[in-house]
Amino acid sequence: MDIKSASFVVSNSEVEKCPKSNLPEYAFIGRSNVGKSSLINMLTNRKSLAKTSGRPGKTQLINHFLINNNWHLVDLPGYGYARVSKSSKKTFQKFITQYFSKRLQLVCAFVLVDIRHTPQTIDLEFMQWLGENGIPFCIIFTKADKLKPMAIERHVEDYKNIMLETWEEMPEYFITSSSKSIGKDNLLNYIDYLNNN
Ligand code: GDP
Repeated sequence: MDIKSASFVVSNSEVEKCPKSNLPEYAFIGRSNVGKSSLINMLTNRKSLAKTSGRPGKTQLINHFLINNNWHLVDLPGYGYARVSKSSKKTFQKFITQYFSKRLQLVCAFVLVDIRHTPQTIDLEFMQWLGENGIPFCIIFTKADKLKPMAIERHVEDYKNIMLETWEEMPEYFITSSSKSIGKDNLLNYIDYLNNN
């Protein structure tokens, strides 16, 4: 799939105010600094469609972008920012829970994970929650340019081993680098496939 048009639609903090249309949507979520904005900009061929926040973890907004006039790309806030207080963690959880439970247009959640790190509890727990709530998801490994091919394979293998302790199979996954434009076509073709099935 080629992205011919990408435009910002709306940012808001309440799922009720998300666009009413029934266009299929795909959400992108992950720990702060995982490379989510860079990935969205790579996918849409824009330099700054998704903006990085100066204070990660502070802006808790659901951002809708309209792509090719036929699907929504949703940029969700980053989680796991160390300096966020307990109460804002709770608010965040509620906010995210509501988005995922109420947004019936959601076709797939893409959970971004930095390929350099060993599997992190916060990401594993989040994916566990998605699975338990019947929300389809895939993993996007980011920043693949930072590792050599052998190390990429080893890190993905670590993930597989840990995921297979709870899941029957490894979810669909993508290896990407926004700086080297790796994984873009695979990801867009997958979205295209889901849009047509
Ligand atoms: P976000 O907070 O998840 O939206 O992350 P950003 O897209 O703002 O990226 C966080 C940092 O990681 C920035 O310094 C980016 O330049 C860097 N970054 C993002 N993607 C890549 C990538 O694919 N490769 C490398 N080497 N750095 C990246």
